Amino acid sequence: MPGQASSPAGSPVPFHSLNKTPCAFIIETVIRLNVNYGGFVYLSTKDWPGRSVCTVFLRGCPLRCSYCHNATIQTGESGVDSGEIIRKIEDSLALVSGVVFSGGEPTLQGDALLALARAAKERGLLVGIQTNGYFPDVLSRLIDERLVDRIALDYKTRWEGYSRRVEGYAGATVEDYSRQAERSVAICEQAWREGRLPEFEIVLTLFWENEKEVLSIADTLPRVPIVLNQGIRKRFWKEWELSRQENGKPYRSESEVKGERPPLSFDELAKIGGRISKIGRTITIRTADTGEVIYEGDRSRGIACQR
Ligand code: SF4
Repeated sequence: MPGQASSPAGSPVPFHSLNKTPCAFIIETVIRLNVNYGGFVYLSTKDWPGRSVCTVFLRGCPLRCSYCHNATIQTGESGVDSGEIIRKIEDSLALVSGVVFSGGEPTLQGDALLALARAAKERGLLVGIQTNGYFPDVLSRLIDERLVDRIALDYKTRWEGYSRRVEGYAGATVEDYSRQAERSVAICEQAWREGRLPEFEIVLTLFWENEKEVLSIADTLPRVPIVLNQGIRKRFWKEWELSRQENGKPYRSESEVKGERPPLSFDELAKIGGRISKIGRTITIRTADTGEVIYEGDRSRGIACQR
């Protein structure tokens, strides 16, 4: 059937992307690599809005975000053969149309990520990357090889001890993170505008009292889709004393550390969205209660989609 190819088991594999070639059999071109592995989800409907995907978590991250939902895989070693991860992806094939690489920071393991993305493409899957933007050269390689269909770039809005930590990757500072993330944004924006990157969004995770930072950051960001993501929880309990030692002051006040404030509501996020909205810039408000509400960046500023 046009637009379809067969899997080795004989079942049809949908032809999801213009960027990939349907194949009658799986070509094993992957060079086996040792991957610092963080985990695998066989079926996720959250990691790529509107799609069912499987998600590969790669261990290790240069940052230490206060709201990290995967803090247990920020550091450590758990080497797994790339072939084992590819087998897990194959086990998901009947259920998913794509694979998302998350972490940790997946681009920290550039060669492994490229090899896994190639393997996913060869199996007829779309590829999504969730990244903090710290390794722009890896994003560039993925785009140039047409190995990625979606990049969600989690752009840090407030420096709360993302790194300068004794363990793990010690290179990240405010200045170099900002420089690297800006390069990543520029690379992705250009590829997105030229049609080489089908989907691109910048995610800003918001908590109370960082509206000021968001407004100034949004001024510097290009007119690309922006997601205002409702930050749910922070963990400062163990970090506070360390931040005082490293910075001479804690990241937060005591009441903030104790987490007495609820997450920002949809209305609060929508209000911030209104302030950073521009012609040509799509704003998505993402909350636990309402899912995603998308405001197109046209003159109407109306809701274009809710899912
Ligand atoms: S960049 Fe992502 S994985 Fe790394 S610490 Fe921040 S939230 Fe966690």
